[in-house]
Amino acid sequence: MQCSTCNGNLQLREGQGSKGFAVHLQLSCIDCGEITNEVNTSTTTGRAYDVNRSMVASCLSAGMGHSGMQKLSDGLGLPGLHHKSYNTHVDAIFEKSSEVMEVILALSREKVLEFYR
Ligand SMILES: [Zn+2]
Repeated sequence: MQCSTCNGNLQLREGQGSKGFAVHLQLSCIDCGEITNEVNTSTTTGRAYDVNRSMVASCLSAGMGHSGMQKLSDGLGLPGLHHKSYNTHVDAIFEKSSEVMEVILALSREKVLEFYR
């Protein structure tokens, strides 16, 4: 592929928007620097990258805290997450889990009441 501005060669490089396990990729011209295309490797929900949220949720399911996730990331050659980011994801997951728990409890109460009527 060639640059549409100067016909120079294009390169794929990591942009400045990478965060944790989400990578920001840019296709840019080696000669003039024009960015032809860019994409994130993860979707977002609110301001959080879904891949990072999923990684923290998976680590919690496996009984790993931030330290365990960081060791796994180091072993795989991945950047991991800052402990403050990790904790922000934990708080969001806890909040969402609590909302789901309230819905399940309300449905369960309804079913039990229905049974004894
Ligand atoms: Zn160019």
